[in-house]
Amino acid sequence: MTTPKVNLLDLDRRDLEGFFAEMGEKAFRATQIMKWIYHEGVTDFAAMTNLSKALRERLAERAEIRPPAVALDQASRDGSHKWLIRLDSGNCVETVFIPEPDRGTLCISSQIGCPLDCSFCATAQQGFNRNLGVAEIVGQVWRASRLLGDRRNGGRLITNIVLMGMGEPLLNFANVVKATDLMQDDLGFGISKRRVTLSTAGVVPALYRLKDVSEVSLAVSLHAPDDELRNQLVPLNRKYPIAELLAACRHYIADKPHRRITWEYVLLDGVNDSEKQARALAALIQDIPSKVNLIPFNPFPGTRHRRSGPAAIARFQAVLMAHDLTVVTRRTRGDDIAAACGQLAGQVQARGRQPARLAS
Ligand code: SAH
Repeated sequence: MTTPKVNLLDLDRRDLEGFFAEMGEKAFRATQIMKWIYHEGVTDFAAMTNLSKALRERLAERAEIRPPAVALDQASRDGSHKWLIRLDSGNCVETVFIPEPDRGTLCISSQIGCPLDCSFCATAQQGFNRNLGVAEIVGQVWRASRLLGDRRNGGRLITNIVLMGMGEPLLNFANVVKATDLMQDDLGFGISKRRVTLSTAGVVPALYRLKDVSEVSLAVSLHAPDDELRNQLVPLNRKYPIAELLAACRHYIADKPHRRITWEYVLLDGVNDSEKQARALAALIQDIPSKVNLIPFNPFPGTRHRRSGPAAIARFQAVLMAHDLTVVTRRTRGDDIAAACGQLAGQVQARGRQPARLAS
């Protein structure tokens, strides 16, 4: 039996150095190959002309550079893009690119489906299949970058990456950390450290671990100012209640002077959008360097929730601003192609909803 080839997209810089050392090659081969993969977008060893022919042949025997395939490429009227990324015979995830005048944000997925069961999220309805591998996570960036012609245009189109697609990134800890390292590495995608953002529903122990191994920015899906309501909207809260989550967030940005936490708050009509709840939210986070991202709810088939009306959204935002908070109401983008927040569904062969695997 032949041993399966190593997919070099699964390896970060240190892994690649180890890989070449094992082949009896110098560490700088890792630098050369990363430039080919991530800067030039080359997957064929034969085209890597600064490597000797003998090395190219040895590489082709034992390794491959295999990003996941694009099954569908959709463009929205507003310039957003959504790609359906095929991972294996039964499963696809979604990746979204959102251009704005001053930046371009790529939203990527970290799991096939999601084991959390947030009541307002379309991904939750898909159930959970498995974690993505490193190559499947960085492969989304690799594909988008190629398809957008990112490196050809001089200026970069992808300036920001957010792990806000399908899945809970902190339940796929090791792979997500490695993949985000590759996004921030100059020899990888070279995205500025602060501009790679991990969004979490609040897996508290993993947040403490994250601080020691990563420099990603943090977005936290809060959605409610009290435990009673958050227990319903984000069931993970029953395991890690708000006070514990806030403590972990404070710890994450302690001694990082310019960092703040982005709080995501989906506005659901009559559920979490009252003035009183806005005041409670402001009180909760007032001592933490913060930015609040209000997200008008995006409906999907079968949901019982409705989007808050414009007056309620404006009132909620005004209360937060009166408490000196930085608040942005996220403009809905790409909803004509179901690419907006919480609408990502992919194709998931659910293995039944398992109780959330919380230990990570
Ligand atoms: N599991 C992580 C990553 C997914 S992020 C997390 O919970 O943060 C997806 C973001 O979109 C989260 O802030 C989520 O709360 C929000 N979202 C989910 N469903 C939504 C919907 N239907 N409308 C608007 N935003 C939604």
